[in-house]
Amino acid sequence: MPPPVFRFAPSPNGYLHLGHAFSAMLNFDLARESGGRFLLRIEDIDPTRCRVEFEEAIDQDLAWLGLSWEKPVRHQSEHFAEYRAALEKLIALGLIYPAFESRAEITRLIKQNEAETLWPRDPDGAPLYPGTARALGLGERERLLRSGAPYALRLDMAAACARAGELSWRECGEGPQGESGMVAARPEAWGDVIIARKETPASYHLAVVVDDALQGVTDVVRGQDLFWSTSVHRLLQQLLGLPPPVYRHHRLIRDAAGQKLSKSTEATGLRELRAGGATPAEIRRRVGPA
Ligand code: GLU
Repeated sequence: MPPPVFRFAPSPNGYLHLGHAFSAMLNFDLARESGGRFLLRIEDIDPTRCRVEFEEAIDQDLAWLGLSWEKPVRHQSEHFAEYRAALEKLIALGLIYPAFESRAEITRLIKQNEAETLWPRDPDGAPLYPGTARALGLGERERLLRSGAPYALRLDMAAACARAGELSWRECGEGPQGESGMVAARPEAWGDVIIARKETPASYHLAVVVDDALQGVTDVVRGQDLFWSTSVHRLLQQLLGLPPPVYRHHRLIRDAAGQKLSKSTEATGLRELRAGGATPAEIRRRVGPA
């Protein structure tokens, strides 16, 4: 049996906090305990938010925690050709359409509809995309494409689900409501998700499934906030013929007010804690056991 492969996959759009430390150390420990491999992947597909200094800080903070990882490190920004190939497959299956509305237009459309009935929300609480561009006639779509307008490429979720059939994943951790064991995927709960954009051949969902497969990741260990995203990942794996890893979603580290950490602050940022004299052992104690 080849060794299991774990990965920690941060986006370099900010400094790491205790929640990242918990996730990275858990992946590293599980890899070590199982004789597995530990990879670091830099999820930098969004050039407007990612910065080199954040990536340098990720390296420093993880090394300070005592972690080591295989080199070379995979950078998503260097693999657009692979994402484009996966996107082309989905396009060839007839499951992708361009949607030209701006965020503000989508909000307006939903407000209009919401006057009549409460608009459905995705598992993160965001309103579902109303699917307007799916219904565009071919002529109008061609005209908009030719006009040079920006667009997102969305998955026709109903068609994708019909093609893929029932899906599930093996969960070794637990979901927000204690879900574990074989969990039934519910990708339809996300509506027509964005899979790519005019200028970028992948969204998070597409890049993550392509990378996990190309890197041979067997165990995806990440925070519970991504639990229901796994539904979309299973769907894309099925459509693209990629092997599904096992998933382990872990609890989230919260601040004193019980909120999930989203930004590193003086109280929770690894650099700040390090500068204040904390040791890696103290960080481990503070985040607690798996
Ligand atoms: N890049 C994602 C994040 O920073 C994590 C992706 C994953 O673990 O699947 O939230």
